[in-house]
Amino acid sequence: MATEAASTAPVDGSQIQDIVDEIYEKYRNVDDGAVATYIPELGKADPKDFAICLATVDGHVFKAGDIDKEFTIQSMCKPFAFQMALEQWGREKVLKHVGVEPSGDAFNSIELDPKSTRPFNPMINAGAIAIASLIKKDSVEAGIQAFVDRMSDAAGRQLRIDQDVLNSETLTGNRNRAIAYLMRNFGIIDEHVNESLHQYFAQCSLLVNTHDVAMMAATFANMGANPITGKRVFDFQVIKYVLTVMFTCGLYDYAGGWAYEVGLPAKSGVGGGIFGVVNRQL
Ligand code: GLN
Repeated sequence: MATEAASTAPVDGSQIQDIVDEIYEKYRNVDDGAVATYIPELGKADPKDFAICLATVDGHVFKAGDIDKEFTIQSMCKPFAFQMALEQWGREKVLKHVGVEPSGDAFNSIELDPKSTRPFNPMINAGAIAIASLIKKDSVEAGIQAFVDRMSDAAGRQLRIDQDVLNSETLTGNRNRAIAYLMRNFGIIDEHVNESLHQYFAQCSLLVNTHDVAMMAATFANMGANPITGKRVFDFQVIKYVLTVMFTCGLYDYAGGWAYEVGLPAKSGVGGGIFGVVNRQL
């Protein structure tokens, strides 16, 4: 049948590249919004930087713009940290520390679910700090290194922390500190509050470029294996939980609008990055 023939026809890569180029041209001069300045170091970003990268599960990469320009991953680290916590501790234990309900509020809101006293979900700061507390190690630096190593495997190259951004957020992150102490009060995180915050701030300060983020997303889409290196990075069994929470909570107080308009699990970050996952595809 004609429809079957159409669906099994080989994908023409040049057509996809044309679409990426078209979208890049269409949006490259948009100058809405502003760079984040509440972490002073992020205020140095050039708002003109712009790149798009699309990576498929069979290892094709389509790109346009400042593809190698590095920036910090910020909140795009949250789904990956959630994945690591689920792998290490299992669903039941992780759910004791963080819920899976959309909060409908901003990323940095100082609130916990009034019924359970847990953070609403792992995509808002409160939930991400609770997750950082679960994946940190006795040696703080070892916990950060384990995260950097895993992200490097997902990106397919060695990544590193931006120490200036880390210092900047450590100096100014009092709102996150307030959230962490609130959670400590309710027994959601352990007594090593500063260590949990340090793990979280370091995760957010990971330097990535647009190609890295696309490869990380494609690793989720590809059942946990990096499509280019072939390395198995994430446990397939828990990716579905991460994608679900990205879909319902990844865009915070715009999560419903995003799901309605775009319809993909996605995660944004104040470093200016955003990624989405088409499961099993790209
Ligand atoms: N490090 C940032 C913070 O905690 C991350 C926030 C974000 O990207 N939305 O404020």
